Amino acid sequence: MRACLQAFLTPLFAAALLLFADTPAAAQDANADARRRMVREIAEMAAETAVETGRPRLDARVMAAMGQVPRHRFVQPGDVGQAYANRPLPIGHGQTISQPYIVALMTDLLALKPGDKVLEIGTGSGYQAAILAYLGAQTHSIEIIPALAEQGRKNLADAGYRQVRLRTADGYYGWPEAAPFDAIIVTAAASHVPPPLVQQLKPGGRMVIPVGTAFLTQHLLLVQKQADGGVITRQILPVRFVPLTGGPKGG
Ligand code: SAH
Repeated sequence: MRACLQAFLTPLFAAALLLFADTPAAAQDANADARRRMVREIAEMAAETAVETGRPRLDARVMAAMGQVPRHRFVQPGDVGQAYANRPLPIGHGQTISQPYIVALMTDLLALKPGDKVLEIGTGSGYQAAILAYLGAQTHSIEIIPALAEQGRKNLADAGYRQVRLRTADGYYGWPEAAPFDAIIVTAAASHVPPPLVQQLKPGGRMVIPVGTAFLTQHLLLVQKQADGGVITRQILPVRFVPLTGGPKGG
């Protein structure tokens, strides 16, 4: 009886494993191919925008991260087929997961070393945070919309990036208890560079932030904090991001 039960259970178990296995091998290969294509498109776009960005080739480690992190796990179920197109996609609540080229460029501009402490403002889907974590950064990320914070947390956990530290709060004010940071990345457009974020950047640290009018002209800025605490700001590229809400005016 026992042997019989075992004989019955083993194929059942195998079938259940197959059913619940994350992604079948063929789909995994298709995703890997799609990611390789996406990485080629990012490289082409980097070359095309080099005059503005000064970065004709992005850091090889950043490109490797783009080639490995499963973006399809961070998009909405209906958009999985579009996950590796080089464009932004909706993630609900009027927000978007950024265009892969922009994710790669912003990450490149942070010039991260493994072990750097990084703060992201705007967790959203969790994809950018996963890229930072893949690069070995001690990643902290803040999201203001509770439902998205929860979604981001789930996406990161499901994709195996449980080490990312997450907080639901207004990122304008940063994360004072975890400061100072080697790098800060803001993934929503602010009207100005938030002073609390400059304060929480280490001397020698770098911040990448889109600044400008909501949905109109915005520029990606690289803000570098000098040893004496002063900042040098460089305009990198015109961009289009969803607005950073919160801050002193409360939105
Ligand atoms: N980095 C995200 C992109 C999300 S879009 C990703 O990889 O998917 C920008 C996100 O910033 C949105 O989720 C939005 O809710 C969030 N956001 C806007 N203002 C914010 C604020 N003051 N503090 C924290 N998050 C904010």
